[in-house]
Amino acid sequence: MVGDRRGFEIIQKALAEGRNFLMEDEAKALCKAYNIPTTEAKVAKSEDEAVKYAREIGYPVVLKVVSPDIIHKSDVGGVILNIDNDEKVKEAYSKIISNVKRHKPDAKIVGVIVQEMAQPSTEVIVGLIKDQQFGSTVMFGLGGVFVEILKDVSFRVCPITELDAKEMISEIKGYPILKGYRNLPPADIDAIVKILLNVSDMAMNHPEISEMDLNPILVYEKGAKVVDARVILAKS
Ligand code: ADP
Ligand code: MG
Repeated sequence: MVGDRRGFEIIQKALAEGRNFLMEDEAKALCKAYNIPTTEAKVAKSEDEAVKYAREIGYPVVLKVVSPDIIHKSDVGGVILNIDNDEKVKEAYSKIISNVKRHKPDAKIVGVIVQEMAQPSTEVIVGLIKDQQFGSTVMFGLGGVFVEILKDVSFRVCPITELDAKEMISEIKGYPILKGYRNLPPADIDAIVKILLNVSDMAMNHPEISEMDLNPILVYEKGAKVVDARVILAKS
């Protein structure tokens, strides 16, 4: 399987560099290898390169720090959204570097990732954890407070079936929000089902993945897009 081989390469590269996690660009490349849609993204090493990539991707864009030492990027001022011209890309680039240097002076900065700004929409989360007893387990929930405060999430042990995926989505308390609520259009449930199945596939093929967070995934009336991805590795 192609996803299998490409995924193996991405994971082995990180492990060979002595890292126990994938940076956002690598985690998104892993998603791509499993047909999980993500925002188009490129890692820039200079302001000029960031402008070049922003033009290629098309405005508006998002810039974020890429660092093996930073897991929660917005906590260190490492995420700037909705940038709409060349000048602002340059400003955002240097702002991110200075924010990160101030909050976490020892962090190694690999570069700044430039990515398309996805249209705001309903946010969901798909996660993967390794249960001591049951092994790889996939998690689903709505984004933000629904997961963090209300713990409104569902779990299934991998590998999951299509029926499992559908049940995971419909059994959370927030399901009516996905079905369409007031002026919120219904979310593309099939797109979420596909992501859950592909994440399960990924977990079965790569036992080195000890934790994964696709947080958030923006879900639209048609389609869905992962805008942030984090993967923790363990030597298996
Ligand atoms: P963190 O490492 O802090 O979790 P994220 O990459 O998740 O950083 O960015 C923080 C928030 O910014 C996300 O939860 C999402 O709401 C928004 N965001 C991030 N990337 C994008 C993007 N490409 N398009 C639209 N919104 C984004
Ligand atoms: Mg995030």
